[in-house]
Amino acid sequence: MLFTDDTTAALRAAVRLVNTAEEPDTLASVADLDAFVRAEPYTGRIDRDAAELEALRGLRPRLRAMLLAPRDAMVTHVNAVLAEVSLTPRLTRHDDTDWHLHAVADDRPLSERILVETAMALIDVIRADETGRIGVCADAGCQAIALDLSRNRSKRYCSTTCANRNAVAAYRARRAGG
Ligand SMILES: [Zn+2]
Ligand SMILES: [Zn+2]
Repeated sequence: MLFTDDTTAALRAAVRLVNTAEEPDTLASVADLDAFVRAEPYTGRIDRDAAELEALRGLRPRLRAMLLAPRDAMVTHVNAVLAEVSLTPRLTRHDDTDWHLHAVADDRPLSERILVETAMALIDVIRADETGRIGVCADAGCQAIALDLSRNRSKRYCSTTCANRNAVAAYRARRAGG
């Protein structure tokens, strides 16, 4: 296991949120927001309203910059988050998760909790010197983020769609080359 479950979950959720900004934008309505929060293990306050939608949409560029930053620049991003948010860390256990840290209160806005959870997860990434696990998708036409948590660092694409498209293209190129 590369990271703890809560760190992995926070990284996956942050990447998924950032990647909703790829065309066509899949976080464009309150219905999209509802689908997003259903698919991710968020607890605490969820408003499912236009203000929350705008806050999450507005958070995407910042999360993207944080996630893709080189290690030292990532530290600057993380420290900025830790300095601007009033942290109230406590260990908690809910649903079927084991003890893990919630760094801000459950009634804080979802966008703030995602921002802080991402920063906390990136602390683990930085300390383990694993920032190379987060990068832009290897597909030539895709700008989405690919998160590689595989043992052998083999995941270069953001999605199975991009991985399959490139596998097919590579196969055709091999056949064309004889
Ligand atoms: Zn939790
Ligand atoms: Zn991709």
